[in-house]
Parts: sequence; C-alpha cells; structure tokens
Amino acid sequence: MSGWGAPLPELTGLSEAQAAERLHQHGPNELPQAARRTGWRIAAELLREPMLQLLAAAGGIYLVLGDVGEACMLLAFVVLSMLISLVQESRTERVLEALRDLSSPRALVLRGGERKRIAGREVVPGDLIVLEEGDRVPADARLLSANDLLTDESLLTGESVPVSKVVWAQGQAAARPGGDGQAWVYAGSMVVRGQGLAEVTATGARSEMGHIGVALRQIESSQPALQQQTRALVKTFAVAGVTLSLLMTLIYVWTRGDVLAAVLAGISLAMSLLPQEFLLILTVFMAMGAWRISQQRVLVRRASAIEALGTATVLCTDKTGTLTLNRMSIVAMQVPGQTWLAQDEDGGPLSPALRTLLQHGILASERDPFDPMEKAFWALGAQCLSAEEVAHLEWKMVHEYGLSPEMLAMSHVWRAPGQDGHVIATKGAPEAIVDLCHLDAVRLAEVRQAADVFARQGMRVLGVARSTHRGPNAHSSWPALQHDFDFEYLGLVALADPLRPTVRDAVQVCREAGIHVAMITGDHPVTALAIAAQAGLDVQGGVVQGEDLAALSDEALRERVAQAAVFARVMPEQKLRIVKALQASGQVVAMTGDGVNDAPSLKAADIGIAMGARGTDVAREAAAMVLLDDDFGTITQAVRSGRRIDDNLRKAMAFVLAVHVPIAGLTLLPLLMGWPLLLTPVHIAFLELIIDPVCSIVFEAEPEERDIMRRPPREPGRPLLTRAMMGWSLLQGLLVLMIVAAAYAWLLHQGLDEASARVGGFLSLVAANVVLIMGNRAFGGQILLAFFRPNPVLWRTLAATVALLALVLAVPVLRGLFKFKLPDVDTAQIVGLVALGTMLVLQALKAIRSPSDTSKRESCA
Ligand code: ADP
Ligand code: MG
Repeated sequence: MSGWGAPLPELTGLSEAQAAERLHQHGPNELPQAARRTGWRIAAELLREPMLQLLAAAGGIYLVLGDVGEACMLLAFVVLSMLISLVQESRTERVLEALRDLSSPRALVLRGGERKRIAGREVVPGDLIVLEEGDRVPADARLLSANDLLTDESLLTGESVPVSKVVWAQGQAAARPGGDGQAWVYAGSMVVRGQGLAEVTATGARSEMGHIGVALRQIESSQPALQQQTRALVKTFAVAGVTLSLLMTLIYVWTRGDVLAAVLAGISLAMSLLPQEFLLILTVFMAMGAWRISQQRVLVRRASAIEALGTATVLCTDKTGTLTLNRMSIVAMQVPGQTWLAQDEDGGPLSPALRTLLQHGILASERDPFDPMEKAFWALGAQCLSAEEVAHLEWKMVHEYGLSPEMLAMSHVWRAPGQDGHVIATKGAPEAIVDLCHLDAVRLAEVRQAADVFARQGMRVLGVARSTHRGPNAHSSWPALQHDFDFEYLGLVALADPLRPTVRDAVQVCREAGIHVAMITGDHPVTALAIAAQAGLDVQGGVVQGEDLAALSDEALRERVAQAAVFARVMPEQKLRIVKALQASGQVVAMTGDGVNDAPSLKAADIGIAMGARGTDVAREAAAMVLLDDDFGTITQAVRSGRRIDDNLRKAMAFVLAVHVPIAGLTLLPLLMGWPLLLTPVHIAFLELIIDPVCSIVFEAEPEERDIMRRPPREPGRPLLTRAMMGWSLLQGLLVLMIVAAAYAWLLHQGLDEASARVGGFLSLVAANVVLIMGNRAFGGQILLAFFRPNPVLWRTLAATVALLALVLAVPVLRGLFKFKLPDVDTAQIVGLVALGTMLVLQALKAIRSPSDTSKRESCA
C-alpha cells in the first residue's frame, strides 16, 4: 500500500500535550457503550435457570415442613452459586473487554510532525488523520488533501455506491453524509480507494455516526456450532430428567404415600439430572480460549474460529510479510550490459546507467515510504547517491498512477523547476515494465532471462522505466493509462526479503499435524517457487498462476488446488475461487490476507486471518482472527491452542457427563431399594452447584496432549461428544455408581445409623469424583501419573474442595443440615478404599479400552 503522496510540509498536527488536553476536554472518541450487565441483571438471569427454580421449590417445601434450616441452606447455595457465576462472568467480561480494546480500530495521525498509529478512541478534534485505502475513518473530518479519494458511507447512508471526495475550501460549512463531491469524511465510513489528509472536526457521540447511534460491533457473537450442540444436549437431558422425576414422584406417592417427601425426592432427582454446567463450561472455555490465543498475539474476533482452528486442514498463506520478514533490501541491479551485485561492491561509485536506474526507482517511490521495497530503494540511494541525486527537494509530484491487478506497475509524474515538461518514473513487475516499454524481441528475451536468474534465487524483481511528457494543457488532462506514455526501459532491480526464522519449523509442524500449507502470492512464479522451497513447502505440485486459474473450470480447479502448494501472480479476487474450490473438496480452510480485495476470501474461509501490522481495517473486519505480529509461525501456535481448547472442552464435558451418573443413580437407588436416602436437595445442590462446576473448570488449564500436533485435524462437524466418548463417560459413571452404592450398602449393612452411613457414602462419592477428574485429564495414560501432570488450577481447586468438606464436617450446624455425623476411622477407611478401587478399575478399563474406541484423534501415548 502506498503512503499519502503529496506532502503539505507546513502541517505538523497537534502536539502530544495538546492532544492529551483535548482528550480530557472532549472525552474519548467512542460511542456510548451498551450498559454493562450489572450484578442484579446477572442475578435475575440466573434466577431463570431451571436449577435455581428447582432449588426454590425444594426450599418452599422445606419451609412448609417447618425445616427452616434446610431452606436457609438451600438459599445459601443459591447465593454461593450466584457468586461463583458472578466471578466467572466478570472474569469473562474483563477478558472480552481487553480483547475489544485490542481490536478497536486504529488511526494514523500526524502529531508533532510525525505519523503515529494510535487507538481510534484517542483521536481528538483538530487531529490530522492520514487516510489510506482500506482504512476505517475514525472520526468526522474535513479534507485538507485528497488524491482520488473514494469512501463507502453505506453504514451511515445505506447508499452502497462509494462516493468521491474533494478538498475542503476555506469557510465551507459542514454537510451531511451522502452524495459525491463532498469535502468531509465521516466516522465509520471506509476508504475504498486513494489517499487523503483530513482535520478532525467531531469525535465520539458528536460525529454523524454518534447522531444516528450506530455502533460498530467489534467482537461478533455469532453462535458457534458448539453452543448449539450444547444447548441441544442440555435440553435433551432436562426433558429426560423431568420426565423421569415425575415418574419417580408418582411411584413414591404410590408406594410410600407421603406427598411432600415424594415431591422433594422428585426435585432431588431432577436436580441431579440437570446438566447445567455444560453451558457454563462452554462460555468459560471459549472466553478463556480467546484470551489464551491472544497471549500468542492472535486476536479472536469470532468465537467460532476457535472451534474451526482444531479442524483446519489447509492453511493458505501470503508470502510477503507472513512467510518472509517483509524487510527488503536491494541485492542486485541490472542495466543492459552491466550487472551490479551488492555483495561485491560496498557502496562504491555506480556507473551512470545504474545511478539513473536507482534514481528513477526512488522517484517512483513515495517520499516517506511505508512499503518495504520503496524503503529499500531509499536506503540504497542514501548509500550510493549524492544528496542532490536522491532528494529532488524542489521537485513536485503532480500526478500518480497506482498499482492495479491488471497493471502491476506504478508511476509518479514529477514537475522539475527549470525543466521543460514532466518526468515520469515507473517501477513494477518486469512483465509490466517491458510491456510499457514495447521492447523488441531480442531485448525482451534478455530482460526475461536476467529476471529469471534473480527470481530463481527467491528475489523479488522489479523493472524501472522513465518517460517525459509535456503535461496537460487547456484542452487535455493527464492520460488515463500508463500505456499512453512512451517509456524508456532503464533496468531491473532485485530485492531480497529473508524468510522468517520460525517458518521452516512451523511448516514442518503443519505437515506432521496433517495440515496442508499453500502459498498464495502476487509475486512472480519463479520467485514464489524459490521461496516456497526455502520454506519447506511441497513444491512437487508445481506452481499455479493467476492466468491459469482464470482458464480452469471449477471442476479442474478443484483437482489442481488439491495438488499444488504454490500460487503466483494471483489477484486477490482469485483467492475467493481458491477458497471455494478447497472447501468444495471438503477442506477446512484458513486463509490470510491484508488488502481491501482480500475481504471476500477472508469472509468465505472457515478461518479468515487478517494481518494486524500490515492489514487494512477492511481485512481486519472481514477476518475471524487478527494476527498481531503477521508471523506465519504464530498461526501454527494458534492451531495448537485451538486443538488444546477443543480437547479440554471435550474432557470437561466427558467428566461432567460421567459425574451425573452416580449423583442421579445414588438419588434414585435408595428410593427403589427402600434404603434411607443418601442425597437430599442440600447434598445435590452442594455437588452440582459448587463442587462440579468448580472442578470442571480445572480442565480449562489442562496442558496439551503430547501428540497434539502429530495427529490429523479433527473431522469437521464431529459432534461435541461422539458416541464413543458418551459411552465411555457413562461407563465411568456407572463404575463410580456401583462402587459408591456398594460402599453405602455395606455401611448400612454393618448396622451403621443413617447419618454415619450417609457421611461415608457422600465422602466416597466425592473421592470417586476426584478420581474421575484425574482419569479424564488425559485421553489415555496412567491415572496415577495424572497427579504429577502440572495444572496449577487443579491443586487450588482440590484444596478448596477439601476445605469446604472439612467446613461442613467441622461446623456442627452445617453437619446437622447435611444430616452427617463425624466419620469414624472405619468409615474413613471405606472412603479410601472406594478411591483406590475406583482408580484401579478405571485404570484397568482404560487399558482395555481399545485404541479404536479412543479413536486415533483423541489418543495419546
Ligand atoms: P505479495 O503477494 O508477495 O504480497 P503483491 O500483491 O504485494 O505480492 O505484489 C505483486 C506484484 O506487484 C509484485 O511482485 C511487484 O511486481 C508488484 N508490486 C507490488 N508493490 C509494488 C510497488 N510498490 N511498486 C512497484 N511494483 C510493485
Ligand atoms: Mg502484498
């Protein structure tokens, strides 16, 4: 992307001190946010949860029965559970807030004479903002300079056609958005073409956008498939639970006659079956996941991307800046009959022809370049040319022709005082330059061959040419096309852009992880192939060129993209076709992009990844993720995190599912067997509202599986819990149910009173659940070893659980409410035995469980 062309040297913008004062005076440049969810709102929402309604019903019955203590206990649980939710919510909210800040639009301003990228919210009235193609306009502003400026104001006016802009004339009054030829740009609109410099007149709520109250959404909350699946799962369980509970209540009334006790038992059962932790787990894991990924300098804009990361099969990446450092330097120049290599001569005097070549390369670049290639021209110029030769200070650029996909060359038209006519300097792809220069066949072959020699070494080659023109007169304006000039060919310049150091390893990791890496670039095919080979990409399939793409049918394209890993001279628009072709052959596509024209392909890809440093706002807004450091290696890191989050989510869900079996079973069994009840609403509330939700969060911090990047991607569309996993969870749950029920029965059989047997049963259940946590932390492996796997959250959580249990046992009132007695040594031994037994049997089951059950995708050593 080119910088803003015509400099207005007298403008320096506000000083930092002025800006700070104005920020204080006018407030930040943002629209009033939707009110944050207050504690009361969250509490009110929680009260709508069926779980809490069941609790309230149970509390009511206890009150009717005169058991005020029980009722209060349940109330206390409701409060405690709300506190836990509030803490989680505010943590999630804080995480999302921080991410929103990071993803807020940035603005390029001129302050104290320097260009600075600042957060959009820091823009103040009076700031000078630099507008470039692809930028979101941060505030309302009047134009001080405009070069072919077109903006899209559809957000404000609903008008989808971009409108052209003109420079503001002194005294001109502010206008409303809409229509061509205005001198104002408006916050929220988008620069579709050209450049400009504008002075901010209104920010925040005082902007046109503020008047109509449109808020730009930063993080999209599209419902990921996982959320829908979870909701469906919860619903199924809830319906089944309620049906079963109603049935149980009827049986109870029929067999034992006591209506209130029957309803209470029914409520207990319904509570034990409600898997409300599922949704909590999903929310927490997704928010924490987004946060974890942001730690790796990748911003998640759509939650669904986290999920897709774990399933990605193809990674389409840019070359320049993503695989390479985008730090260009000129390593060779060639004029007819002479080649100059930077490594051979260090800054020695250049021949006149080489000087002219370099000079015109600089003239075809911006004065204050942003583009690394243009920086390289300036750098070599500073080294090899005299000050007068480099900086044509009194020269004035009067016109320019931009780079376009159809013509990969750009020209600057200069007016030099004391010279007749104008000088036109052009640089661009060698094919484009020779085309502009109309070289004869012999010269053409020479240039082609020379360019190829450089390109084969992975260098980017540019041609440079010049022309002169008298300029427009009263009857004519500047020619419309660069073709309308008569160009003189000057020579070739070869630039090297080193590979990022992380790339080779990252490509290797992708290969092991079953992810195909494809490079899509606008560069020359030979250069592309050379860089691809350096990066370790699969170059067997050859290179597909943009032209070839256009000629291929959809069918043929699908075949071609399956083999090729290198795409060159591709126009951004063609990326969309590549994405679609890949998707049509069943691939899950991650695609990087930075330009305005990349937006459609970023949107279409399963995971659109925009470049944070180089990317335009348009690309960022179309993407599901933003790569803050533009590094290819970081994408692999994000995939790794995605897979881990996915694994851990499944582990947590599997655990929660397993845990529900013994809780429900131990509620039901005594009813059926005529034993004294083991679990009453108080116990179930304690287990389900406090112990389990807190314990399942442990899985969020679980370290990754050892083979996480050595196994193929998860099949897309595979349900959250596969049948195999559900079966395995239920089996584990049944195991715990059987062991704990046996222990309870044995304690009763020993003639223990109800309260002593209950405390033994309850503690056994909690101990077995801890074993379940350990067993589900890794998909395979030794349970005992799980105790040594690091997980900081685990130990804190277990300690808290033990402390809570100790509290319940130690405080007589609580002990009474739980209908417990202090366990004696025998009971404690039983609890220990239950834990040990569960561990042994679970380990044995894990060993038997055939690898096909664990599935290649879930297993680890
Ligand atoms: P990439 O995919 O490597 O980022 P680009 O789309 O940026 O490639 O560029 C494609 C081609 O356009 C380059 O190979 C070069 O020939 C030409 N080009 C790009 N930027 C410039 C520029 N600033 N001046 C002249 N030519 C350019
Ligand atoms: Mg590029």
